[in-house]
Amino acid sequence: MDDKFTLYNLKVEVVGSDKPMVCSHKEGDYFLVVGENLIFPETNSFSMYALSAILPLLPAKQRPLHRNDWMMSDSLIACPDPNCGAKFKITRTQTQDFSHAECTIEPIHKGE
Ligand SMILES: [Zn+2]
Repeated sequence: MDDKFTLYNLKVEVVGSDKPMVCSHKEGDYFLVVGENLIFPETNSFSMYALSAILPLLPAKQRPLHRNDWMMSDSLIACPDPNCGAKFKITRTQTQDFSHAECTIEPIHKGE
């Protein structure tokens, strides 16, 4: 039985704005999202406060969205520090197939 489903892989990258950054962010620092995993390059760090603001959006950005959904158009997330000018850009990089059985022991739901 085909139990495959498709998610987008994501890249979350620090981008600047016209306001200075007051946290330790560096423009270009990033992490990747593949399935349930966050993948951090060994060469950069990432603020846990910024991460807390970004995390709730990632599962939605991984999935197909209605073209009118604001979650589709909005991809810049502000740093939760109101004095910090950093923004975090979420980009869909490619799609990847996953197996339902490899993600959960729950059966595939057949109806609503
Ligand atoms: Zn910041």
